[in-house]
Amino acid sequence: MVRSGGAGIHAAGDRGAPEQRDSQGAGEPRGQGPVREAGRGGGAVHAGGVRCLPAKGIGALPAHHQVDRRKGRIVELTQEQRLIRDTVHALASERFAPGAAAADRQYRPPLDNLKVLAGHGYTGIFLPECHGGTGLGLLETVLVVEQLARSCANTAMLYSCTDGATPRAILHIGSELLRQRYLPAFAKAERYAAWSMSEANAGSDVGNVQTRAVSDGQHYVINGSKLWCTAAQVADVFLVLVRLSDEPGMKGVGAVLVERGTPGFLVGKHLDLLGLRGTGMAELVFQDCRVPAENLLLPAGRMKDLLQVLDADRITGNPPICLGLAQAALGHAVQHLKDRTQFGRPLAQNQGLQWKLADMAMDIEAARALVYGAAQAIDQGRQSVAQVSIAKTFANEMAVRVTNQAMQLAGAYGLSEEYPFERYFRDARGMSIGYGTTEIHRNSIARELLKGSYLV
Ligand SMILES: Cc1cc2nc3c(=O)[nH]c(=O)nc-3n(C[C@H](O)[C@H](O)[C@H](O)COP(=O)(O)OP(=O)(O)OC[C@H]3O[C@@H](n4cnc5c(N)ncnc54)[C@H](O)[C@@H]3O)c2cc1C
Repeated sequence: MVRSGGAGIHAAGDRGAPEQRDSQGAGEPRGQGPVREAGRGGGAVHAGGVRCLPAKGIGALPAHHQVDRRKGRIVELTQEQRLIRDTVHALASERFAPGAAAADRQYRPPLDNLKVLAGHGYTGIFLPECHGGTGLGLLETVLVVEQLARSCANTAMLYSCTDGATPRAILHIGSELLRQRYLPAFAKAERYAAWSMSEANAGSDVGNVQTRAVSDGQHYVINGSKLWCTAAQVADVFLVLVRLSDEPGMKGVGAVLVERGTPGFLVGKHLDLLGLRGTGMAELVFQDCRVPAENLLLPAGRMKDLLQVLDADRITGNPPICLGLAQAALGHAVQHLKDRTQFGRPLAQNQGLQWKLADMAMDIEAARALVYGAAQAIDQGRQSVAQVSIAKTFANEMAVRVTNQAMQLAGAYGLSEEYPFERYFRDARGMSIGYGTTEIHRNSIARELLKGSYLV
C-alpha cells in the first residue's frame, strides 16, 4: 500500500490564494485534490512547474482551522491527514450541508455529492493506485467520513457503502477479473456499491441466511429476499450473502455479486427508518435470478475471510458518522445557548448548562480517541476485534447521548424540523443497530476478554 509521505503537501494553513482555485465539482478530472498527493508518497509541491493546489472549489478555511488544536492526543494526525480532514470539512460545509435537511425530508439520496467527492479525488481512497484509488489507510477514510457526517449524514452513509465493505471485499477476496471490472468504476464514482446481508430471519444471526444460490455450472440461480439494504435504490453492484450449501449456519453461507438490471433481481419497497432517510434503503427480491459463475465472490465455508474484511470496514463506516453527527450537534448547541436569552441573560450563562456542554465535549473526545486509535491500529497491522468493537459501541452510544442532550438544550426548537437537532438524533439512533448491534459487539469484547486475547 502506498502510504502518505512527509513532504510536499500544503499544511492546512498554507492553501494557496483563493483565486488560484476554481469551483468545479462533478466531472472534474480526478487527481487534483490533496488526497492524490498524499497517497503518492507526498508528491512534489511543484509538478511540471505548476504548483499543486489543494482540493478545488473550496474557499479559504475559517480561522479556527488554520491552527491545529488537536495536538497531544493519543493519535496525532500527520500534516497530510489534517489537510484531508480540513479540506473535506470545508468542501462538505460549503457544498453538502445546505442540502442535508432536504435530502432527509424528501427521502432523496444525495448522490451528486459523491460525484463532487470523486471530482476532488476523495472516492476510492483506500484502493491501491492500480485499481484507480489512492492507497490511503483506514484512518484517512475515518477522517473523510467524519467530516462528511458533520455536514450530511446521508452523504456519509452513501460514501461508506460505495467506498466501504463491497469494494473492500472485492479487493481482498475477489478474483482479478472482478477487481478490474468493478474497482476502478467505484473509485471514480461511476458505479455505486451496496452490501446485502440481512433478511427477515437473519439479522444478528447471519448464519441463518435463507436466500439460496444454486449452481447450474455456468450460472448461480438465486431465490429469496433481503432487508434493510442501504443504498439499494442507487447502487449498481450488490454484494449478496447467500446460502450455497446445506451445511448448517455460517458454513453454508457465501457471497455473490449481482448487478442492477439482472433479470429476476428487483429492488423492492423503500424502507423508511427513523433516520438516514436519504440513503435509499430498500428490500431486495430474487426470483430465479441468474448470475454468471464468475460472480461468485466467496465460496461456502470461507465466511471468516469476509468477516475479517468487515472488521476493517466497521471502523471506517459507522463510528466516524457518530463522531461527525455528535460534533455537529454540539456546535449547534453551543451557538443556541449563546444566542437564546431567557430570564434576561443568555442560556450559556447558566453553569448547569455549561457543564452539559463540557460533558458532551468529553464524550466526543473520548470516542474520537477510540475510533482513531482502532483505525490506526489496523493500519499498522495490529488488528483487534475487541478494539474495533469497543470503539464502535462507545461511539454509537456517545452519539445518542450527545445528540439527545443537544435537543434538550435547544428546548422545543430542538424537536422542530426547522432546526437540525432532531435530525442529528434520528440519524445517530440507527448507528447502534447497523453494522452489528451494540449488544453483539459487547459479546465480541467479552469473548476476547474471556479468551485472554484482549487485555485492558
Ligand atoms: C441504519 C441501518 C443501516 C443498515 N444497513 C444495512 C445494509 O446495508 N445491509 C444489510 O444487510 N443490513 C443492514 N442493516 C441491518 C442490520 O445489519 C441489522 O438490523 C442488524 O444486524 C440487527 O439485526 P436485526 O435488526 O434483525 O435485530 P436482531 O438480530 O433481531 O436483534 C434484536 C435485538 O436482540 C439483540 N440480540 C440478538 N442476538 C443477541 C445475542 N446473541 N446476544 C445479545 N443480544 C442479542 C440485538 O442486539 C437487538 O437488540 C442496517 C440497519 C440499520 C439500522
